[in-house]
Amino acid sequence: MNDNLDNADATGWQDFANCLGVDPDLFFPERGASTREAKEVCKGCVVREDCLEYALSNGEKFGIWGGLSERERRRIRRQRALARRTALEAEAATESAGSASA
Ligand code: SF4
Repeated sequence: MNDNLDNADATGWQDFANCLGVDPDLFFPERGASTREAKEVCKGCVVREDCLEYALSNGEKFGIWGGLSERERRRIRRQRALARRTALEAEAATESAGSASA
């Protein structure tokens, strides 16, 4: 099982993890080593979304979480940050257009 799940908040989702009983080293491969086997385990995991969101919200920098590598999670964080910024800019533009017409 992904070792870091032992430190997870009391969410309960980890009880359903597909990686329970699986060698934790599989999820923390050496740099450059294959992540394929870990991702295969994650592929059929019913709590994959919970696991990924946990890793994203806790800034987990290492290992495979929710079937994604560090680099893949970084990409999601960047995309979300960009989407948040775009939404805030759109909101600010709408408010300023509204106050200009008032
Ligand atoms: S998505 Fe992968 S790492 Fe996360 S709980 Fe499931 S099997 Fe474990």
